Amino acid sequence: MSKIQVLDQNTINQIAAGEVIDRPASIVKELMENSIDAGATMITVEIKDGGTSLIRITDNGSGIDPDDIQIAFLRHSTSKIKSALDLMSVSSLGFRGEALSSIAAVCQVELITKTKEQMLGTRYKIEGGREISFDEIGVPDGTTLIVRNIFFNTPARRKFLKTAQTEAGYISDIVEKIALSHPDISIHFVGNGQTKIHTSGNGSLKDVIYSIYGKDVLDNLIEIHAENDFMKMSGFIGKAIISRGNRNCENYFINGRFIKSNIINKAIEDGYKFILMQHKYPFTALNFDIRPELLDVNVHPAKMELRFRKGEAIYPWIADTIHQALIEKPNIIPVALEKTKKAPQKQRSVPEPFEEKRVVQTIRQPQTQTSLKTEQGYVAEEANYNAGKPVQQTLTEVSDDFLTTAAKPRHKLIGQVFDTYWIIEYENKMYIIDQHAAHEKVMFETLMEKFRQKKISTQMINPPVILNLSMSEAALFNQYRDHFQALGFEIESFGGQDFALRGVPADLYSLDSGDVFMELLDELSQETGRMVPDMITDKIASMACKAAVKGNNLLTAQEMDALIEQLLQLENPYNCPHGRPTIISMSKYELDKKFKRIV
Ligand code: ADP
Ligand code: MG
Repeated sequence: MSKIQVLDQNTINQIAAGEVIDRPASIVKELMENSIDAGATMITVEIKDGGTSLIRITDNGSGIDPDDIQIAFLRHSTSKIKSALDLMSVSSLGFRGEALSSIAAVCQVELITKTKEQMLGTRYKIEGGREISFDEIGVPDGTTLIVRNIFFNTPARRKFLKTAQTEAGYISDIVEKIALSHPDISIHFVGNGQTKIHTSGNGSLKDVIYSIYGKDVLDNLIEIHAENDFMKMSGFIGKAIISRGNRNCENYFINGRFIKSNIINKAIEDGYKFILMQHKYPFTALNFDIRPELLDVNVHPAKMELRFRKGEAIYPWIADTIHQALIEKPNIIPVALEKTKKAPQKQRSVPEPFEEKRVVQTIRQPQTQTSLKTEQGYVAEEANYNAGKPVQQTLTEVSDDFLTTAAKPRHKLIGQVFDTYWIIEYENKMYIIDQHAAHEKVMFETLMEKFRQKKISTQMINPPVILNLSMSEAALFNQYRDHFQALGFEIESFGGQDFALRGVPADLYSLDSGDVFMELLDELSQETGRMVPDMITDKIASMACKAAVKGNNLLTAQEMDALIEQLLQLENPYNCPHGRPTIISMSKYELDKKFKRIV
């Protein structure tokens, strides 16, 4: 063994830097958060080569007093907390005092800063933790941090960086999230000399969403405001039509900070249960204001992960509020003309190179009627057309109430196509119902309702079906026996691993009883560790699916009429339990457009 030595401060900082700074994006995050904490209303972020050769962040915040500059670059120096006691109530974005020291340990850093009290500002250079210079300089109020050649002195870590494009993508993700969490700050992001994002800072979250995601997302938002004793939730959630293939667009902020929380992701996704298809994830931009004493914010060095003290109360409240908001509005997917077709989805897990399309305009003024005309003019045009008015700039929400008892007598059932879809004319639209999805939804809701009211009835089968289970299947069944009973199965042990299936849920009587039971058991075995209430709704969904009329079945008009009647009774008739749409619509206006009757 060699002799034990205390590491020098530089080495300690380099090691610590590894925790805080793993790539250019984390530098951008730390520095932007510092600017926000300094009260900036404008932040410009410029990068070159994915931030690997240069990151420059300029703000108009408080600036740093010359006496504090060297201290700010020491490890664990912060102006934001004084002791561990303050940790509980801290409301600023960063407070561990590690960012500047870590960045300076592994990069070449230049700080230019001036407070409004000072006549002259300061330029301070520090490279790999070594001070280079400290000069007076004439500059505007605020702070600029220039970070060059990341990991210049730790080549091994430099090797872990990805391509400049990929690193730029990570930075862009961070800037987008920070912009969404602070609509009150004008954020300008420039990559290799081109503007990528520019928000106005006018306080409108909707404007920021438009700047970053464009019109398709803007047109499909539902606003949310909800509050309980310990938290507030506000912002926007996306309709199913703008769902994504990954979680990148589940944006949410806790007390103004963009932080990860598995509980919140899961709660949001639960709110969308049976509205989105499997493996689809929603768009959200939600702000949560949670009483600080319920949060444990300091669990991760990069300050991205959060723990709650009331997780069990927070979870269902978020999920329910989101779910209610989603089912409140009719959710029939319109068949669109080319003009409104869905923009290609951003697949951000592998960040794409910057492209002009995502890059957004110059500062936008608060939206006016005229600027909305270009974004939503199509909707306005159609509304006017339907009202027989000449096309002009008025904005009208085109509301859909097709599935109501009042509307039903005016439905004109046209017929069935491909033994699967039903066409119905109503007012200015043609509606197309997928009979399988619709029936599945009705079955699901009926079963759920009976289940909730503990009214699932059992149909006895005679003679009973004898099931020969494997050891693990038998163990699983014994573990969930009560749940099977609650679902309407009646099963008796028959000695060893044999069981007698004597009764099945009455609504599933038409199916092969043994098969249904075994399929449910199989699915259970693949889903260990999931929560029981979740599991049950999943099982009910798959039972409903199995029992529902398949496509390619000839239904009579009366049967279809009865099915629509049942759909009307449902809270959310628009999606099958797996999230597929049950109904889509096409307006007369769109047909007229297609046939060039109107141009
Ligand atoms: P922390 O943000 O956790 O306090 P940092 O190392 O990021 O630690 O910053 C150290 C200190 O430097 C901050 O507490 C703050 O006082 C000062 N500082 C950093 N960036 C800025 C900025 N852009 N404007 C004003 N002060 C800043
Ligand atoms: Mg900081």
